[in-house]
Amino acid sequence: MQTNFTEVQLRDPAIQVADSILRSCVHCGFCTATCPSFITVGDEDDSPRGRIYLIKEMLESGSAASAPVAFHLDRCLSCLSCMTTCPSGVDYMHLIDHARTHVEQTFRRPWHDRGLRAVLAAILPYPARMRWALRAAGLARPFVGLIPQRGVLFARMRAMLTLAASERVVAQGVGDVTAQTVHPAQGTRRGRVLLLAGCAQRVLDPGIHAATIRLLNRMGVEVVIPQAAGCCGALTHHMGKHAAFVAQAGATIRAMTDALDEETDAIIINVSGCGTVVKDYGFALRGEDPDLAGKAAKISALAMDVSAYLLKIGYQRTRPESGLTIAYHAACSLQHGQKITDAPKALLRQAGFRVVEPRDAHLCCGSAGTYNILQPEIASSLRARKLDTLTALSPDAIAAGNIGCLTQLAGAGIPTIHTVELLDWMAGGPCPAGLKS
Ligand code: SF4
Ligand code: SF4
Repeated sequence: MQTNFTEVQLRDPAIQVADSILRSCVHCGFCTATCPSFITVGDEDDSPRGRIYLIKEMLESGSAASAPVAFHLDRCLSCLSCMTTCPSGVDYMHLIDHARTHVEQTFRRPWHDRGLRAVLAAILPYPARMRWALRAAGLARPFVGLIPQRGVLFARMRAMLTLAASERVVAQGVGDVTAQTVHPAQGTRRGRVLLLAGCAQRVLDPGIHAATIRLLNRMGVEVVIPQAAGCCGALTHHMGKHAAFVAQAGATIRAMTDALDEETDAIIINVSGCGTVVKDYGFALRGEDPDLAGKAAKISALAMDVSAYLLKIGYQRTRPESGLTIAYHAACSLQHGQKITDAPKALLRQAGFRVVEPRDAHLCCGSAGTYNILQPEIASSLRARKLDTLTALSPDAIAAGNIGCLTQLAGAGIPTIHTVELLDWMAGGPCPAGLKS
C-alpha cells in the first residue's frame, strides 16, 4: 500500500513503524474472511483491510480521530485472527495498538463512554477494588431484568452485571494462594519460575493459580510470586490509555526483574491475554526510559505460557484415564497472539482426555478483554456462535487457557475449565469445580 507521510511526520519513530506496516499490506482482503467483526456486521470498515485504510488516513492527516474512525476501531476485537491469515505478514497488532492510543489522545468520546472506560480502568486491574465491585454486582443482579432493552448504555450495563454475577464467578470458593511468595518444589528441585499473579483472574477464579502452583511444585518446580507484580497493563493497553499502561506494566516489570535470579527458567503466565502483552513488552515500551525498556525486553524474552512450559519439562499424568471428552477452545491470544496451537491439546491428550475441536476454531468467542462490556451486541453474537459449535460436540467440559474466554462461555450448561486445572487433576490434584469425575 502506498503511503503519503511527510518527512516531518516520518521523523517520529512510531510513525516510521506504522508506515512500514501500512506499506506491507497489499489490499488482497484474505483477512476479511477470518475477521469476526466483519463476519458479524458485514461492513468493510469493520474488516482488517477497512481498518487499515482508516488508520492510514487518520495518521497521514495528522489530525484528531473522527467519530466514525473511533467507532470502527472500537469494534475491532484485537483478536489477531487477521495476522494468522495475512500472507504478507502485516503486523496489524502494532498498527491497531498505535491507532488506539491516537484515538484515546485525540478523540473526545460521549460522556457515558468516557465514564465507563474510566471505571473499568480504575477497577479491573486492582484485585481489592474488583472484589468490592463483584459484591456490588451480585446485589444488583436481581435487577438486571429491569434495565431497559434499548440503547448502548443500557446494553453495556446489562452485559457488565451479567458477566460480573455469572455462575462461574460466584461459584469459586478457593482462597487466594498468590499471597504466599515462595511455593517450594516437591522432591528434587528441577526448575524455578516466576508466576504472574496478575489482577482479574486471581479474583474471578483463584483456583487456576492454585492448580498451576500445585502442578508445577509436584513436577519439581519452585514457583515464586513477586508480590509487587500486579496487572500486566493489558486492559489499559487495549483501551489506548498509554500512560496507565506504562505505569502498570512498569511496576510489574520492576517487580519481576527484582525477583529474577540466575536459576530462573521462565516467567509463567496462565492467562493468554496477559501473555500476549507481556511477550510484547520489549516492543511496546521501547520508547520509555532505557532502564525500563531494557528490563521490559528481558521480561518479554522470559515469558512463557504455562502450556508451553509444561510441555517442555515433560508433563505426565498419574491418574487413570477419565473417559471424558474435552472441547478445546483456542483463545485468540494463545492461537493468534502467541502462535501456540498444539501444546494445550497435546497436554490434554497426554492427560488421557479425548480432545475435540469446534468448527471455525479460529473465530473469537467475543470476550476480548473488556470488549464484551463495551461492544455487547457483537460480543453476544460471537458467544452464541461459538457456543453453538462447542455444544455440537457434546463435550463433558470446555477447556481454554484464558479466564476471559472461560467467563464468556460459562452459563451454557457445560463446565468451562482452565486447561491447567484438568492437567493438575490428572496428575494428582483435586477434580476441578463443576466437573463430575
Ligand atoms: S484483530 Fe480480529 S477483529 Fe480486529 S481486524 Fe483483525 S481479525 Fe478483525
Ligand atoms: S490479508 Fe494482509 S495484505 Fe491482505 S488485505 Fe489483509 S492485512 Fe492486507
